[in-house]
Amino acid sequence: MQRRPIILWGDPRLAAPNAPVETFDKDLEALIEEMFETAWAAPGLGLAAPQIGVNLRLAVLDLSVGKDPDQKTVLANPEIIGQEGRVSMEEGCLSFPGLFTTFERPKSITVRAQDATGKWQEIEAEDLLAQALCHEIDHLNGTLLIDHIRGLKRTMFIRRVKKLQKTGAWG
Ligand SMILES: [Zn+2]
Repeated sequence: MQRRPIILWGDPRLAAPNAPVETFDKDLEALIEEMFETAWAAPGLGLAAPQIGVNLRLAVLDLSVGKDPDQKTVLANPEIIGQEGRVSMEEGCLSFPGLFTTFERPKSITVRAQDATGKWQEIEAEDLLAQALCHEIDHLNGTLLIDHIRGLKRTMFIRRVKKLQKTGAWG
């Protein structure tokens, strides 16, 4: 399986609309495997299709980063159907390499999504898994880390990106 280059913040494909996944075939399976390979190699806990320039409502998650096949989760056309509580956690993103910021997410969520075969499933998650699910679903709505932070925190974050871009450490 091939890995795909991960596109970084500033690329318009990260903010472009994402079309629903409608065809669950061999091509989709191959794309999903490439997405897992790309996430594991990064390494990262998950990857959304727009991050490799594919504007589809598709993401993969694996909190074990390739160690436990049971943790491989495919999210096609996911939506959050319930949420509870709030918790503040540090978060990073493969499209912002080397950067982290802290903001609030729901403590627990329920997500409805299709798997690689098109079968609908409900996923109940809390803490890290809930955070990771929210993060990937955000990507499918064109929402990035930076959209969650405001004011001075956001200014400082952009300054850190600019510094990395200048030194060539970005991408
Ligand atoms: Zn991300």
